[in-house]
Amino acid sequence: NREIHLASRPTGWPTADNFRLVETEVPKPGPGQLLVRNRYLSVDPYMRGRMNDVKSYVPPFALDAPLDGGALGEVVVSEADGFAPGDVVLHRLGWREYALVDARSARVVDPDLAPVTAYLGVLGMTGLTAYAGLLDVAAMRPGETVFVSAAAGAVGSLVGQIATLKGAARVVGSAGSAEKVARLRSLGFDAAFDYHDGPVRDGLRAAAPEGIDVYFDNVGGDHLEAAISALRPHGRVAICGMISQYNSAEPPAAPRNLAMVIGKRLTLRGFLVGDHEPLREQFVREMSGWLREGRLSYDETVVDGIENAPAAFLGLLRGENLGKMLVRL
Ligand code: NDP
Repeated sequence: NREIHLASRPTGWPTADNFRLVETEVPKPGPGQLLVRNRYLSVDPYMRGRMNDVKSYVPPFALDAPLDGGALGEVVVSEADGFAPGDVVLHRLGWREYALVDARSARVVDPDLAPVTAYLGVLGMTGLTAYAGLLDVAAMRPGETVFVSAAAGAVGSLVGQIATLKGAARVVGSAGSAEKVARLRSLGFDAAFDYHDGPVRDGLRAAAPEGIDVYFDNVGGDHLEAAISALRPHGRVAICGMISQYNSAEPPAAPRNLAMVIGKRLTLRGFLVGDHEPLREQFVREMSGWLREGRLSYDETVVDGIENAPAAFLGLLRGENLGKMLVRL
């Protein structure tokens, strides 16, 4: 069994040296446990926060211990009722080849209903984040103009498509390369721009000259500042993530225009996907319907091999992914 340990805590940008590949014995399950052979690992931006030794909504990763995170695997040995060898399960012990999983924290998924990786992305945590953030937190209504950042990523690409499916008048996305911008257009975004091409404020003004009603924030900083300037009165912001500052040692300079929140009567609302479980049933029903009808697409970037999991994570922070970043074992 090979697993990835956190060897040291990064300051600023993490490097390969912060991780260690460790060989261990394949564990034996006790009562109530499953031995799972992992097939896919989810790679997520929030993992960067857990590498710092600070109090947050999830505890920090421990040093010299395996990292964890969303994963899909096949049950090899079951010591729990309701699980049999061969079952594909969704669980929380990624970053290792074999996981000893408490059956209470595993869920069997149906590989005939959707490709299994969908349960880590479009029909899983990522999809629920997009769906709940846009429709519940930002309360988008038909006829509105929506802006989303990190729009070619896993969450952002779904936000833009859901907005269109729910009747948004105009959907605008920003992303980090010309290829990503082209992909956004083919996904049905009305306008998209590369935020490297100039100030975000200018890109947004050209893409949404009449302003925006909703901003789905994945990035923070300059993006949030530009959105505050572009928002119309009573506009709403779902604060999902602020990836532009996850690796910075200094506090961000932007947004410098926060006082506009008053005159425009804006709502800025942070959220955690975990609080939106009550929406899950509706979310799965609606999203799987759109997938079946071919009205919703999703991209995946797949990196092979447990030894490449740290590189996949570093690549995600640098924007090397289109859609959901996964590691295949
Ligand atoms: P993505 O698939 O969007 O991957 C991250 C992307 O962020 C990269 O592809 C990169 O794309 C972009 N990025 C990196 N650095 C910067 C930067 N400095 N400025 C602008 N863009 C940058 O990841 P997810 O879809 O998994 O997550 C998206 C966001 O949602 C993250 O902020 C994450 O923390 C948050 N999140 C929050 C949840 C919650 O419950 N609140 C749950 C899940 C995710 P590019 O090439 O365009 O730069």
